[in-house]
Amino acid sequence: MNTKTKFRPADPLGIQRVVKPKGVLPQQADVIDASLPIAEDELLIEVESLNIDSASFHQISEACEKDVTKIERHILNLVSERGKHHNRVTGSGGMLIGKVVEIGPAFPIQEKPVRVGDRIATLVSLSLTPLQIRRIKKINPQIDRVDIEGTAILFASGIFAKLPEDLPETVALAVLDVAGAPAQTRKLVQDGNTVVVVGGGGKSGILCLYEAKKKEGVKTVAVDYSQAAVERLSSLPFVDEVIQADARNANDVMQKVWSATKGRMADVVINVANIPETEMSCILCCRPKGIVYFFSMATSFTRAALGAEGVGADVDLRIGNGYTEGHAELSLDLLRESPELRKIFTEQYT
Ligand code: NAP
Repeated sequence: MNTKTKFRPADPLGIQRVVKPKGVLPQQADVIDASLPIAEDELLIEVESLNIDSASFHQISEACEKDVTKIERHILNLVSERGKHHNRVTGSGGMLIGKVVEIGPAFPIQEKPVRVGDRIATLVSLSLTPLQIRRIKKINPQIDRVDIEGTAILFASGIFAKLPEDLPETVALAVLDVAGAPAQTRKLVQDGNTVVVVGGGGKSGILCLYEAKKKEGVKTVAVDYSQAAVERLSSLPFVDEVIQADARNANDVMQKVWSATKGRMADVVINVANIPETEMSCILCCRPKGIVYFFSMATSFTRAALGAEGVGADVDLRIGNGYTEGHAELSLDLLRESPELRKIFTEQYT
């Protein structure tokens, strides 16, 4: 720790860093101040990689015509304008990995043990994390990862995980980004349920399918779009049925789920597709009084709520909280216990 630093006053929620509009929390803010020095209760991180939220990366990539040079410029402009990587269209962020380089003297280390030099993954969104990028080293468009040189600040209220030693860091980064999804799946799915995962071939989808199948007598159904995702899913022992469909086509998905479940439909539907307009296929796949869990950041509250009302679907619509207690360890443990998950994540993210 640099004892000569003059720290800003402690501010556990980071409100003093909000530039505009004044008085709101950093996540709501249009612009935040990511400059140094840190506050007495903040952590300074030398950042290595950003894991951009999949819905956000997809949107940026489309807007930049998949041109990596344009994506790079877009990311640099966004972060220099807002002081954070907060996508203006999707509203989402992502998370990062890096090394702790300074700890404010009032950071709550009793509750959140950490030392200078520790390598950590932040578990709060980039949409509220003060960030400065000096240089983008590499953009990995297939896996939404951006390797950078820069600094980020974690507020005292923020959460993080130390990077595990038994898994490659980039794999841990990918898993931790979506750790809330399998952790919430554990809470939502009951023995004997039929569980449909829309966008099931992606990171969070595969973790949710595995976690759901651990309950007694569960039937898992994955819906995904591309041939590659369908082939990947078909080889997995914890996926009972694979449906190839465009989740934006609600009627088609509903009919295919009806066939796969012999008309029973799903007790729990989990939406992890990284594109907009998939709400109605999820709602139509759900049985009356079942649960639709929207983890996707491309979800529209209006489309989901008015859409369900419009078709008279009495289903429980849940917002996908990215955090639940113990979610980081739970999600990393899934890779430790399943050779199939470990293989897929290692092949894709190292
Ligand atoms: P991912 O790995 O990119 O997976 C998304 C999946 O959706 C892919 O398998 C993709 O299939 C599929 N998909 C895309 N278009 C589709 C379509 N038209 N029909 C059916 N499937 C389609 O994403 P992820 O990292 O698991 O993230 C999933 C979602 O969770 C994203 O929206 C992300 O923003 C969100 N998220 C939420 C939180 C939270 O706190 N709630 C945290 C992190 C992420 P293809 O490969 O075939 O394109």
